[in-house]
Amino acid sequence: MILKHFTELKEYLSQSKNIVIIGHRNPDGDAIGSTLGLKHYLDKKGHTVQVVMPNEYPDFLHWIPGSETVYRFDRQNKQSVRSLKNSEIVFLLDFNALHRVGSDMQNTLEKYENNFALIDHHQQPDDFEYMYSDTTMSSTCQMVYNFIEMMGDVDLIDKNIATALYTGIMTDTGSFRFRSTTSTTHRIIADLIDKGAENDKIHSNVQDANTYNRLLLLGQALSNMKMLTEYKTAFITLSEAEKKQFNYEKGDTEGVVNYALSLKGIVFAAIFIEDKEQGIIKMSLRSKGKFSVNQFARNHFNGGGHDNAAGGKSDESMEDTITTFKALLPKYKTALETSYEA
Ligand code: 5GP
Ligand code: MN
Repeated sequence: MILKHFTELKEYLSQSKNIVIIGHRNPDGDAIGSTLGLKHYLDKKGHTVQVVMPNEYPDFLHWIPGSETVYRFDRQNKQSVRSLKNSEIVFLLDFNALHRVGSDMQNTLEKYENNFALIDHHQQPDDFEYMYSDTTMSSTCQMVYNFIEMMGDVDLIDKNIATALYTGIMTDTGSFRFRSTTSTTHRIIADLIDKGAENDKIHSNVQDANTYNRLLLLGQALSNMKMLTEYKTAFITLSEAEKKQFNYEKGDTEGVVNYALSLKGIVFAAIFIEDKEQGIIKMSLRSKGKFSVNQFARNHFNGGGHDNAAGGKSDESMEDTITTFKALLPKYKTALETSYEA
């Protein structure tokens, strides 16, 4: 755990400030939940706060209170740049290095030499002026709860804050089932329910938001799934043509990789998704047990993340990416065999 200059930050925030809060590119439930949860809290403390996200996020996260106030850097560029220019401090939530916001937004952040405060649970964070980094945490949302607690303000957590934070803890823990879920996570969740988070509604808003096409795309993904039992590995591919056929929208492939990981005996799962626009194959990697997909993604696919959930990319074609991927597995045979004991 790293806690850097917290006392100074607390002192700094004792007077009203112009604040921008940002999350990573392709924000997920934890990025949206943590930025909005922190925004509602800092609003209450009398600051002027703007959330800026690099790009779009899935429809099933738009119901979170405050979502309508978020600027998208790619769409509302002028407003976003103005907010960043005028801000006195920028909170970086749910990512560990500035390049994770994309190059356009990164350039803007570096140009104005903003003061940065990081709250994040990813491994190997870059160094910033103010830092709260803890890779043992289930989610950045859990850390925002802790941050508010360290500020001495748990009593300020209201329904909006509780709802936003509950959502991110839920999505980053696979609904409280991943190894990162501790008894403390459950205690915090219990407190968030006491403070107004309507758990049944939140689960329903996020999980029962399938479109017909999304389920058909899932069907396609599942029929593309391959098992490499020798390496306890399973993978899924989705081509650009398949995405088009089922009217792919952002977020439609979220969680699909978990079906591959749910296969009995599988400890390593991957999904490879063609992105013609960026000219890459984007991949999501998941594991059970000790095999670190963070390390695997860092070593071979220009990515990173956590031990059991990471991502990366490849500039090769789908076919070549799969060939490269398969060729790597023999090297990890022992690690995969011994990763997880049921
Ligand atoms: P997902 O597979 O859900 O997109 O991402 C899983 C985890 O890996 C998330 O914590 C995400 O931030 C991280 N991640 C995904 N893609 C990349 C990437 O290209 N680079 C890095 N450093 N992390 C990634
Ligand atoms: Mn997260």
